[in-house]
Amino acid sequence: MTYSRRQVLATGAALATLPFARSARAQDRGRVVVVGGGFGGATAARWLARMGHAVTLVDRDATYLTCPFSNTVLGGVNDLAAITHDRAALEADGVTLLQGEAVAVDPDARRVTLAGEDSLPYDRLILSPGVDFRQGALPGYDTAASQIMPHAWKAGTQTALLRAQLEAMEDGGLVVIAPPANPYRCPPGPYERASLIAHYLKSAKPASRILILDAKEKFSKQPLWEEAWDALYPGMIEWRPPSLGGRVTEIRASEGTVVTDFERLQPAVANIIPPQKAGDIAEVAGVADATGWCPVNGRSFESDLVPGIHVIGDACMPGAMPKSAFSANAQAKVTAAAIDALFRGEAPQSPKLINTCYSLAAPDYGFTVAGVYGEADGKLFDIEEAGGLSPLAAPMETRRKEADYARDWYARITTESFG
Ligand code: FAD
Repeated sequence: MTYSRRQVLATGAALATLPFARSARAQDRGRVVVVGGGFGGATAARWLARMGHAVTLVDRDATYLTCPFSNTVLGGVNDLAAITHDRAALEADGVTLLQGEAVAVDPDARRVTLAGEDSLPYDRLILSPGVDFRQGALPGYDTAASQIMPHAWKAGTQTALLRAQLEAMEDGGLVVIAPPANPYRCPPGPYERASLIAHYLKSAKPASRILILDAKEKFSKQPLWEEAWDALYPGMIEWRPPSLGGRVTEIRASEGTVVTDFERLQPAVANIIPPQKAGDIAEVAGVADATGWCPVNGRSFESDLVPGIHVIGDACMPGAMPKSAFSANAQAKVTAAAIDALFRGEAPQSPKLINTCYSLAAPDYGFTVAGVYGEADGKLFDIEEAGGLSPLAAPMETRRKEADYARDWYARITTESFG
């Protein structure tokens, strides 16, 4: 089936589902550099290359380990190989892959400098660097502390370290999980993590406990998680908000101590998820504001601060839209269409975007939250009543089906982004 340009550009939602295989006319072709080959960057690079533009994708790592489904590794359901992807297939679409670290951007000269001092010229630059951690925001928590109390909020060696600690822990041990305040990557992620760790402990170390020391008073899909915990792991998971002493104020990693407003805990395993910001290169490029995130136009994802640079995925703040792989992938397609339009001298169309977050409380127990986003005056807004949440008190068959949908989604999005 073929689609007209008008049909394809009509909505971002359509962009999420339509095949895209056409070539830009030679005079419309532009040079695009994409920094970051995760869900956002890989998708944008692939779509722009399919449109006929000259695309170079830069990532510091040769392979990519997904955060989605990394909690299943912690729960002993999958191994790291199951969440590891390479990007070789993007070359078949015409993307030039470059392994390297982007260390500087000159927006006037339109060049990206790589470590080693090579530099790449661009007409349009896309940054999709994900998140980095706010140094000093949680006293005592730094890179050295993360080797003792892993964050595992970037998948890879941190995931392996946290899993090894869970395996080494004795039955009856306390696992602390400390999620940050909003905004951060994957709002339901810490609660899925608590659930899948509980899934492992329930059979391997049933006398153990999980304590979530939260920096916020409520969290994503809270009633669904609490219902699942009562049904699947009664008495095993305790959630403590700041008003009940849950706020972590300091980490003393070398002593194994987690300090809260009211007590000092010495858990067997501590998973500290620190406050976040856009990946460091965003700040270097001048596209991050005082919040640490990157304000962008919701039509094109072009920076509000620096022309010619588009920021997508976790790093950007386009208005209402959670930081998820689903969002990054959808934003990438909207951005590819917008850049294609800009190269043709046309204005980007106002998009509609969708996000769905699938979560697993156990391998056969899933639920979802979905949102639909429109654009007005350059910012995205949540279209009320267009999204939805899985119902409470649903039959187990529904939970099983939603867990299957989660696996199907993972297979689809990783194939679309990397496969
Ligand atoms: P990333 O995927 O982080 O990619 C950034 C890439 O940029 C990396 O490959 C990095 O190496 C590269 N990079 C950064 N800086 C540079 C530089 N200077 N030079 C070169 N390369 C650089 N989302 C969902 O939709 N569903 C889920 O079920 C889900 N589960 C999650 C579970 C957990 C535990 C976590 C932590 C997250 C989860 N997420 C989920 C969120 C998802 O992982 C992120 O939202 C998504 O990865 C964002 O994509 P991105 O392209 O913005 O950044």
